[in-house]
Amino acid sequence: MSGIYLHIPFCKKACHYCDFHFSTSLKNKEPLLKALVQEIILRADEFKNKTVKTIYFGGGTPSILDVDEIKNIIKTIRQYYKVIEIPEITLEANPDDLTDDKIKELAQTEINRLSIGVQSFGDKELQMMNRAHSSEEVKQCLHTATQYFNNITIDLMYGIPGLSNEEWKQNIQQALKFGISHISSYALTVEEGTALADFIKKGTYPVINESLAAQHFDILVNTLTQAGFDHYEISNFGKPNFYSKHNTSYWLGKWYLGFGPSAHSFNGNIRSWNVANNAKYIKSLLENSLPSGQEILTVKDQYNEYIMTGLRTIWGVSLEKVSQDFGIKTSIFLEKQIQPFLENGTLMLKQNQLKTTQKGKFLADGIASELFWV
Ligand code: SF4
Repeated sequence: MSGIYLHIPFCKKACHYCDFHFSTSLKNKEPLLKALVQEIILRADEFKNKTVKTIYFGGGTPSILDVDEIKNIIKTIRQYYKVIEIPEITLEANPDDLTDDKIKELAQTEINRLSIGVQSFGDKELQMMNRAHSSEEVKQCLHTATQYFNNITIDLMYGIPGLSNEEWKQNIQQALKFGISHISSYALTVEEGTALADFIKKGTYPVINESLAAQHFDILVNTLTQAGFDHYEISNFGKPNFYSKHNTSYWLGKWYLGFGPSAHSFNGNIRSWNVANNAKYIKSLLENSLPSGQEILTVKDQYNEYIMTGLRTIWGVSLEKVSQDFGIKTSIFLEKQIQPFLENGTLMLKQNQLKTTQKGKFLADGIASELFWV
């Protein structure tokens, strides 16, 4: 399974917490899309023996694009790459872009999965985060989108100061009422250099409370698993047959190509990334040169990544794979390191697969770092 990621680096507004690469000025949209198409063509050889099964429009806000611009990108990929007949094609979209007409138009394209950046059903939280949409727009767009797409995922954010447990539960219930089949949910985190970090430093925004986030996480897991969702990755919940194929391939270490400024690519042992600057990206592609850096992952890096992603997913870490791919010494090291976590009930071992327990899930990243080979 191989995937293609496209980074569309434009947004209408800057959300206070966001540290992704994007610009709120659309003046370079046209040259950037030309450069993106050029990159798709230039890098076709990297995937000459691969078949593309998933395409993911991320960002930024890809729903800012016109339907014809989206179609042209997909057409170029089909022209230069081997793509299965019906790949999973996801478009990240914000509710304010998803008017009834836009949804109907999108439903006529090859896009077959919408990832809608809802974040909250409450206006108070949406305003605090500086989102571009209102709760009314969320409801209207979900009402229409669910009539035209059967594969919809939404993002919901928890751990927002002032969001009570009861309000958080209602957020999740609202999503369930619309029959959504996949939910990605992340705790509000403070990234350096964001407006949110600045507000907290100045004391104009409350400090993020980790215990509130932990309570919200428990509510999330309990409510969604009771509603028939599989908790297949720490932040991702899907009904059977509705897991994200694209993101699953990242977690299982499959190859992917990322196009657009700041996009990352991976080919088994090399990770590369494009410059996170629209003007530099466009200039470089105009000169037919790839604006990217890369790192070769050492065996140690590959082991650490496998542990990190494995513990976050339902598939866990295979002790047999660790021994085969990383050697017996690493396997002995791992078996020693996991003992305290098996004893305190945060990890479990079933048929040689190491997984986090319900109790350990929220702590998965911290546990993984204790198992790293440093
Ligand atoms: S819409 Fe998404 S990418 Fe754009 S600023 Fe908000 S969170 Fe960041």
